[in-house]
Amino acid sequence: MSEDLSAYGAAWGRVKDRLRSEIGDAEFKSWLSPLDLCAVDRGRAVIGVPTRFMGDWVRRHYLDRITALLGQECKDLRSVEITVKKAASNRSQGVQATRGEAAQSPSRPGRRRAAEAANGDFSAPLDPRFNFDNFVIGKSNEFAHAAARRVAEANQVLFNPLFLYGGVGLGKTHLMHAIAWHIRAKDPSRRVIYLSAEKFMYQFIRALRYQDTMAFKEQFRSVDVLMIDDVQFISGRETTQEEFFHTFNALVDQNRQVVISADKSPSDLEGMKERLRSRLGWGLVADIHQTDYELRLSILANKAEHLDADVPLKVLEFLAHKITSNVRELEGALNRVVAHATLVGRDISLEATQDVLHDLLRANDRRVTIEEIQKQVAAHFNIRITDMHSPRRARAVARPRQVAMYLAKQLTTRSLPEIGRKFGGRDHTTVMHAVRKIEELRGADSGFSEDVDLLRRMLES
Ligand code: ADP
Ligand code: MG
Repeated sequence: MSEDLSAYGAAWGRVKDRLRSEIGDAEFKSWLSPLDLCAVDRGRAVIGVPTRFMGDWVRRHYLDRITALLGQECKDLRSVEITVKKAASNRSQGVQATRGEAAQSPSRPGRRRAAEAANGDFSAPLDPRFNFDNFVIGKSNEFAHAAARRVAEANQVLFNPLFLYGGVGLGKTHLMHAIAWHIRAKDPSRRVIYLSAEKFMYQFIRALRYQDTMAFKEQFRSVDVLMIDDVQFISGRETTQEEFFHTFNALVDQNRQVVISADKSPSDLEGMKERLRSRLGWGLVADIHQTDYELRLSILANKAEHLDADVPLKVLEFLAHKITSNVRELEGALNRVVAHATLVGRDISLEATQDVLHDLLRANDRRVTIEEIQKQVAAHFNIRITDMHSPRRARAVARPRQVAMYLAKQLTTRSLPEIGRKFGGRDHTTVMHAVRKIEELRGADSGFSEDVDLLRRMLES
């Protein structure tokens, strides 16, 4: 049975006030104001939302914060659960009006917001720095850049969609904004919409909630160029995928340009319906690879010039050499170095750079992966890499496998069970046994021991 709900009710009220001030009125009204505290039972609070979509959204974006705030209010609280209230028990402050009610009540905030959205612009703001002029071209991104330029300059649709993919911080968003800027500058009458897949979902879910999907559809289906960033976030959400698919098809049928980005190629997008995946790959697929040293150095030089900062070439080279993860981190590192020098009023030096960035530099230190270890060890002992995963127990493959497990334990931070899984789903005791066995052999056989050390050095270099 529920505990004294009124005491909790007051606490819940305060939590909601707090959330409203944290996230702002508009967002609060869309997502959090319809939440109700339904029950508290043995330290578990149950919060009701009107729809499953909202439930997903709230869970993903606000649950941690709600739990923390409610926990501060109610010391005995252990967990918070979000559940969908049955439509019939929709007793609270006018969440999700029925169609009839909505039609009779023009002042309903939902109607108003949906109408605003229909007249206003769905497009997210564009970053003025993300233009073609500021995009530095290198081997890893020249194809994606050329494709983006073609789309921006063309007067007719050449390939649909343009699908850009690559890891984080490698310039996908930059290129999409650049396309939008270019088209808007060239022909302001063309409607270009850029938004993240998350925003697309948000708009769609909101339209569903206010039962105004018509306006939503119209809005998207009347654009000249639609760009959706990070579509991997749509995967796994069937209704949104469906809507995205319909919107996408409608635009392509009308010969409008669609540009998509994702962190993976269309065929690797997990949780994406097959027909959508294959459809996304119909146009031109361009990937952005990891940066190389030359590109990193020219990006840094370019950026330093923009910052109007006097950064010694030695420092730029050092950064280009050390920060290999992605361009965002690279830029962040340069910004930090420049900001630090400005603050302390000293010239930028290599020593100061190493000092300011020591945490970042450590994180960018090369980490050996289990896969690399398996590959190197297999090559060394002349066995197939698949033998690392196979159940075969013959000494000729079992021993190298044990060496690889031993090195995995030494050179990575993986746990024994994790290592076991990477070796054909073996048990952690098998890994433990391998580690002991190799230690024992190393003690007994100096030739073998040198062999293992050699492998280790090769992997670490
Ligand atoms: P992604 O969307 O692929 O995660 P972004 O487009 O947000 O990456 O890029 C991250 C940062 O790196 C941005 O500040 C962007 O301007 C910058 N950047 C990425 N690639 C380049 C490039 N080739 N030239 C200049 N800046 C770049
Ligand atoms: Mg991006």
